[in-house]
Amino acid sequence: MKLKLHWKILIGMALGVLFGLLMNSLGLKEIVIDWIKPLGTIFINCLKLIAMPLILASLITGLAELKDFSKLSKMGGNTIVIYLFTTAFAVSLGLVLANIIQPGSFINEEARSTLLTTFAGDVDSKIQAAHATQESAPLQPLIDMVPDNLFKAMSSNGSMLQVIFFAILFGIGLILIPEEKARPVTNFFSGLNEVILKIIDLIMLTAPIGVFSLLAALIVEIPDASILGGLIAYALTVIFGLLLLLFVFYPGLLITLAGVSPKRFFKAMLPAQLVAFSTSSSAATLPVTMECATEHLGVEEEVASFVLPLGATVNMDGTALYQAVAAIFIAQVMSIELTLSQQLMIIVTATLASIGSAAVPGAGMVMLVIVLGQAGIPEAGLALIFAIDRPLDMFRTVINVSSDACVSTLIAKKQGMLRNPVAKEWDDNYKATNIKK
Ligand code: ASP
Repeated sequence: MKLKLHWKILIGMALGVLFGLLMNSLGLKEIVIDWIKPLGTIFINCLKLIAMPLILASLITGLAELKDFSKLSKMGGNTIVIYLFTTAFAVSLGLVLANIIQPGSFINEEARSTLLTTFAGDVDSKIQAAHATQESAPLQPLIDMVPDNLFKAMSSNGSMLQVIFFAILFGIGLILIPEEKARPVTNFFSGLNEVILKIIDLIMLTAPIGVFSLLAALIVEIPDASILGGLIAYALTVIFGLLLLLFVFYPGLLITLAGVSPKRFFKAMLPAQLVAFSTSSSAATLPVTMECATEHLGVEEEVASFVLPLGATVNMDGTALYQAVAAIFIAQVMSIELTLSQQLMIIVTATLASIGSAAVPGAGMVMLVIVLGQAGIPEAGLALIFAIDRPLDMFRTVINVSSDACVSTLIAKKQGMLRNPVAKEWDDNYKATNIKK
């Protein structure tokens, strides 16, 4: 019997953890870092390599097929409103949980000073990176969205919004010119899109090996477990909140607003969720997210190609919830009483900070510095959560990706662009043209 892709990835992850533990106990960490970790890095690089061309080709094809501005602006407006709503909900949930569970009360004075001194150095670089973002002009994020050179924008994975901007402009141009002139261009991008989707299939064949090496490397690089002890309550609060989003909030939205069963959603999105967990990067996961959503969940390309790249860069519910819990936790450990208005301020700043966070590992922690600053919590408190940030990053990235996929389903439903799911196996010789619409 042929194993499904998500099973292969899960087995790869489990073996990676076991292998990492074994090599750790044999004192052979270096071998994993020198010889195994590079395979994971190659896997992530392949995914990142395909992300920019995919955004360009799929968004241009998607917009050309929309053939109508009013649909685009309606879809854009709805997407932004729902993204903001889910993020603000996630932050509020984080605040409520942190106030009820009080994870800060589980840390004793000794653990507090050990953490603060051990990670003080690591924290400095994050604080500097955050301040660099903060010092820019108020309209800088808007300016940053508009590239002055397409090739420069395409050459950096940090410039996804710039490429989205260009693709939208290009798509609008295509809609406006006569159809016979537009057709060859549309055909070219739609062919390119097919090629890229096929490349993603090929890359995903190597996913089990990729996640194996990523998890093995993670295990050997994890800091001393004794330091983590006091942080368990904090970590569990974040994870509990994330699980509530994943298994209660999104299924609730899917059932009530789109009539989509959670089973269908999870079955379709599991490969993307596992890759998100292993890579801690929504940007690197984007090609897989797009393929899962369009070909397994049934979201039409016109919607997915717009909603998902945008979501990967701006919609980060997992990061937002984590920033809220982390801010309250640090305040509790530092014995800082936060007033209600300070806490409400956190809802605003964490929502904005998660939008501003890049879709790469550890970005949420950099933007957390800004949330702390605004709430009057000492930034040095970041050292308290440093040791456990990487594992939490893995969890929050799963939520970030799931949220994008959930919103794309809601938007597709609203636009009448949600197909019945297509039963397609990743490894099959599949032809997109066979999709029954
Ligand atoms: N790693 C997260 C992502 O790529 C961002 C973060 O919270 O650090 O979605």
